[in-house]
Amino acid sequence: MNHNRKPELMAPAGTLEKLKAAIDFGADAVYLGGHEFSLRAGSGNFSLPEMEEGLRIAHQAGRQVYVTVNILAHNHDIDRLPGYLKELNNLGVDGLIISDPGVLLLARECCPEIPITISTQANVTNYQSAEFYRRQGASRLVLARELSIEEIARIKRSVPIELEVFIHGAMCLSYSGRCWLSQAMTGRSANLGECAHPCRYRYALVEEKRPGQYFPVAEDERGSYVMNSKDLCMITLIPRLMEAGVDAFKIEGRMKSPYYVAAVVKVYREAIDRILACQQLDMERWIKELERVATRPFTTGFAHGRPEDAQDIEKTASPRKVLFCGVVRDRDEMSGRLLVEQRAPFGIGDNLEYLEPYQPLRTEPVIGLYDAELNPIEVARHPQELVWLDSQYPLTAGTLLGKITG
Ligand code: SF4
Repeated sequence: MNHNRKPELMAPAGTLEKLKAAIDFGADAVYLGGHEFSLRAGSGNFSLPEMEEGLRIAHQAGRQVYVTVNILAHNHDIDRLPGYLKELNNLGVDGLIISDPGVLLLARECCPEIPITISTQANVTNYQSAEFYRRQGASRLVLARELSIEEIARIKRSVPIELEVFIHGAMCLSYSGRCWLSQAMTGRSANLGECAHPCRYRYALVEEKRPGQYFPVAEDERGSYVMNSKDLCMITLIPRLMEAGVDAFKIEGRMKSPYYVAAVVKVYREAIDRILACQQLDMERWIKELERVATRPFTTGFAHGRPEDAQDIEKTASPRKVLFCGVVRDRDEMSGRLLVEQRAPFGIGDNLEYLEPYQPLRTEPVIGLYDAELNPIEVARHPQELVWLDSQYPLTAGTLLGKITG
């Protein structure tokens, strides 16, 4: 088996904090959107100065930043795009992610030197489409999620273009956002990145003349979330995807927390590195770590062809098992105490989980907590508050704290 080519691990960066988490935990590249022209409108997204700062942090660490310009653009968007594309060019972004052919044409004209990735929203499912986009000047394709590994491998053999595939995160019941359900039901368009996920709602049947009487819709006695997909998790198939020649592995989730991004990047980083070094794989631990931050059961989607058992028809999502509650900023060598910047309330008696790059998860109860002046406190309540925490572990700055909730 040839696993020698190192694929790029690409992580979502909805905010600067998520960008830093992704980089600290080993992402080779991040993708992010500006305030305009990008899907995932609710994920925070970057102003141009924030983007500049993100680029500085990433480039200093030797990582890449790809910017999404992947809306299905209307005429008024096209009118305003050249100025924005030129600004991205001036900032020195490493790549653009585009789905609309009009935007692609504009990007080729306005900033021909920036490499172009074709977004999964373009729904590339065959080698002829891949060849089409190669001829249009794209250097990479994010393939549609609806492909088997065999199909991916054939596209790779057939067309000299880089391939990126989704390996982890939410699935869309349609071909990646090509769906009007959210627009029709809530006025929020999936094609503009504002999907309200009505495919995950609970549905019932109502007969017109009997309003208020809900008849259950269910495939069997278990429930009625008929369109609710499980989340993609390809950890067990990373060796096969590397063998298939995939150039980049993409993690979904620009709206997820920094803790989620770090936890998922950590696992896939370890997996890729161990495969490349021909070391033993630790699948059991990796799956457990991914399940810690998951809210839905996992599926391998279309990896083997038609997905089986890919929907969770019992419920829309499970409660989180761990809540992101702080970041270690420093450690006092004398006392061993950790200086923690708080994100969500935690206090004496809570159980904490520590997320560090390349380390198994470590846990311990909170037994000593102090304010910035070292006065004992019961609870750290205020976001961004600095508190001191007793710990048996010599944790380093950047370690993320999760409060165990389940
Ligand atoms: S409603 Fe569901 S199927 Fe439709 S775009 Fe949103 S996530 Fe996809």
